[in-house]
Amino acid sequence: MSIGKKIILLSLAVTTVSVMAGDKVKWKMATTWGDGLVPIITASKNVAKYVEQMSDGKFTIRVDSSNKHKAPMGIFDMVKGGQYQMGHTTSYFWKGKDINLMPLTTMPFGMTAPERMAWVEFGGGQEFADRAHAKYGLLSFSGGNTGNQMGGWFKKEIKSAEDLKGLRMRIPGFAGEVISKLGVAVTNIPPGELYTSLDRGTIDALEWIGPGMDIAMGFHKVAPYYYTGWHEPGAEAQFLVNKKAFEKLNDTNKAILKNAMKLAAYNMYLEFYHMNSEGWAKMKSEYPHIKVRTFSKEIMDKLRAANDELVEKYSKQSPLFKEIIESQRAYMKKSREWTIMSDLDYIQGK
Ligand code: CA
Repeated sequence: MSIGKKIILLSLAVTTVSVMAGDKVKWKMATTWGDGLVPIITASKNVAKYVEQMSDGKFTIRVDSSNKHKAPMGIFDMVKGGQYQMGHTTSYFWKGKDINLMPLTTMPFGMTAPERMAWVEFGGGQEFADRAHAKYGLLSFSGGNTGNQMGGWFKKEIKSAEDLKGLRMRIPGFAGEVISKLGVAVTNIPPGELYTSLDRGTIDALEWIGPGMDIAMGFHKVAPYYYTGWHEPGAEAQFLVNKKAFEKLNDTNKAILKNAMKLAAYNMYLEFYHMNSEGWAKMKSEYPHIKVRTFSKEIMDKLRAANDELVEKYSKQSPLFKEIIESQRAYMKKSREWTIMSDLDYIQGK
């Protein structure tokens, strides 16, 4: 080989190496969750882990929890502004910015987790998420589902709607607005202060998630009445992605990221199911003083009526909100018949 050819080959090799080095993509993700919020923070970390594994280390994501960036409710703005390429959070936190983002997480009396997940993938849900986030330069992907949430911990038994009047409760999102129509004074308190607020009587009741996560918070020690859910039947977290950053990725990395998010979301749903099953069993054996209750039909009917009123109010304000709710309700009507026919009838031995 001539010296000239060797130089050409050498320079080609150098070029290839530098192009590969230039191909390294480094992203940052901000989460609403703190370091200890398993299994939700696990899903954030899993995305980073899967992306690194699938890209053979060429695409990495640094995960900053809220312990680091100190802005759990600033995710939307930080991803929109490009300080972070992506975030892990929940779209109903942004209802104050845009009501259309609210029903993309969950709705009181709405779809269960499998029904919602099917709606997102095959029933038009993802298209609504795309449309609702488009004007902010954001993309939103499913970020893991908590499954059906419990209705919360109460210091006193709630027998009638009258007992709810004047009660101070931490319950966020649409459900908070709904229950406030029944006379509940709704407050929002950061997760780290929940137990103390309940213990000291700053609040009389709160909802968190389900037995898998609630027991560790210790709420049962001060509020023994544990009500079944109505308000978050299938809450879906979201991976929020800056659209410009996403479009800069090559096709392989786009596919890697999408698949990593999907796998992390799937695993989060399963981990929640597992933790709730374990938590429920532990609750029954170790904390027999916990009194599990379901709200009376009178209360449920009033909550449902309040929910319908609010849905109507927001539907008048926003045509997109109306479209999303109509799509969800139509999808739920069909899928619920199948849920009852398959799972419920099977469980009840019909
Ligand atoms: Ca909750």
